[in-house]
Amino acid sequence: MNPKILLTKCVIALMIMCLSAPVIAADKIKNCSEKEDKTALENANRFITEHLDNFLATSASFLATKYKDKMKKKWPKTTLKCSKRDKYCERRDFQAFQGSSNTIKYCTEVFDLSWAELCTTVGLTVHELGHVANIPIHARHDHADLYAKTISSGKADLVWRLEKEMKSYCWETINTGSSPSVAPVSSGEIGTKCKKNSDCNSKKCQGKGAVRECVCADNDDCDGSARCKKRLGKNYCIAKGTGPGDFCKKNRDCDIGVCQKKSCVCKTDKDCKSFYSNISDIRCVNRVGKNFCQETKQDAGESCHKNSDCTGNLKCKKKACSS
Ligand SMILES: [Zn+2]
Repeated sequence: MNPKILLTKCVIALMIMCLSAPVIAADKIKNCSEKEDKTALENANRFITEHLDNFLATSASFLATKYKDKMKKKWPKTTLKCSKRDKYCERRDFQAFQGSSNTIKYCTEVFDLSWAELCTTVGLTVHELGHVANIPIHARHDHADLYAKTISSGKADLVWRLEKEMKSYCWETINTGSSPSVAPVSSGEIGTKCKKNSDCNSKKCQGKGAVRECVCADNDDCDGSARCKKRLGKNYCIAKGTGPGDFCKKNRDCDIGVCQKKSCVCKTDKDCKSFYSNISDIRCVNRVGKNFCQETKQDAGESCHKNSDCTGNLKCKKKACSS
C-alpha cells in the first residue's frame, strides 16, 4: 500500500478512535480493584467535569480568582486513585488525601466509595482538589472531626468550606434538576472574556489565548473594600477578610486579626471574641505556623490545645480533652 495512503488511513483511524473515546480519559481513574469503586469515581468525575466552572462562578465567592483558575487548570490533569490499605489512611484516619502533586487518593478501607452518595464523593474530591490547588488551610485542618464540631473548621477553613459548598451545590442540582446560575455580566466587566485592553472597563485584559479576561487595574475596579492585587499573569481582586480563614496577602486585608500564610487569623483573645461573638470561652493560640481560636472549658472528647482548655480535671491528650 502506498505509504501516504496508509498514513492517511492511520490518521483517520486515530481520529475515529479519539472521537469515539469516552469523554473520561481512561487513565484518569486508577488502581480500583472493585468495579463499583471505579464506577463511583467515574460518576463523581463526570459531575465535577461538567459543573466545576459553574460551581466556582456561583458558589465559591470566598475563593480568590487565582485559586479558582488553579482548580480549573489542575482538574483535567488530576488522577483519581483507589488506595486500599494505605498506611497513611490508617494512621491518620483519612477518607482521602492528596498523593503526589496531581493525584487524589481515596482510602477505600475507610471510605466506602461504592456505598457513598454521589454528592459526598463529589464534595470529598473537590476538597482534595482544593489541596492540589494549594488553597490556604486552617492550622487544625487535619483535625476536622474535632474542630468541625466546635469552632474552627468549616467557616474558618477555605477547603472545608469548599467541600461543604460543593456538596450543597450537588444536592441542589440533583434534587431540582437545575444548577445555580450566575447573573449575566455585560462584556467589559471583570471576569469576562477579552482580546485587548480596550475591551475592558478597567482597560486591562490579561491571560493567554482563550483564557484572556478583563482584570482589575486599580483598587477602584474591585467592589467595595476589596483591593487589586497586581501580579504576573493575571491581576485579581482580594476581598476584605472578615473572618478567620479568609484569604489575605497582608495584615490590612483582614478586618480582624492578622494575615498569616495567606489566611486571616487571630492575634489576641479579643480577636477570637470578635470572630466568634456568640462564644465567650475562647482564646487565641499563638504558635509557630498559624494562630487559631481555641474554645476553653471544653468537655471530654472536645478539642483542646493544652490542659487548661479542658473543664475540671480533664487533660488534653492528642488534642482532645479526656480523663
Ligand atoms: Zn483536607
